[in-house]
Amino acid sequence: MRVIAIDGPAGSGKTSVARAVADRLGMEYLDTGAMYRAVTFAVLRAGGDPADNRFSANVARAIDLRVEQDRVFVDGVDATVEIRGRSVNRAVSLVAANPDVRSEMVARQREWVRRCGGGVLEGRDIGTVVFPDAAVKVYLTADPAVRALRRARQDGLADAPNPPDGGPEAAGVDAVAADLARRDMIDSTRRTGPLAVAPEALVLDTTDKTFDETIEQILELV
Ligand code: C5P
Repeated sequence: MRVIAIDGPAGSGKTSVARAVADRLGMEYLDTGAMYRAVTFAVLRAGGDPADNRFSANVARAIDLRVEQDRVFVDGVDATVEIRGRSVNRAVSLVAANPDVRSEMVARQREWVRRCGGGVLEGRDIGTVVFPDAAVKVYLTADPAVRALRRARQDGLADAPNPPDGGPEAAGVDAVAADLARRDMIDSTRRTGPLAVAPEALVLDTTDKTFDETIEQILELV
């Protein structure tokens, strides 16, 4: 089974790159971040505390989760928009640091690959934990300021205000940069499945690369 693992920090362009690579190779694509976001959404919707490990683990095991190409369904409800919202952004790294939540999601990711007979997966731990034998491993990264700007543009926040005190209403590029930095810190220092470069991974810094250059480099490696 051929697996292409694309890992990297928040806002590094994994989603668009992974989709394009899957498209070009005629493979299936899975956004594993959407799965952790969906669990977080379900925890919050049930009124749970994201810091309550037992509660989050139970939600992760019980959740009916469907991650499709453009939509995400949680227990039959379309949560595509909500899983990208602020409350999920704030809590997702905490929920994703929970080892029991991770083992459930990792099992579901492996099952997805078995069903599809391979695929392109993007996340944080795909090449290190989920598929250490992946045929191709890529670690995408970019300058933090560039990542924040790309993400803010994508979310339509590039022109939003950045109050000097960066309070809860801050929504512009600075606020996005702070959110990415906070998530990267939690994601790379957790004990289970931290964000890390797999030893065999091709590290691609996309700061000064065009989208097409990045895709071509990955396809060459494939
Ligand atoms: O990729 P995205 O930014 O949507 O991921 C949201 C969060 O999900 C990350 O900040 C991280 O905490 C978690 N995640 C993870 N492992 C993965 C994918 C995402 O812990 N494989």
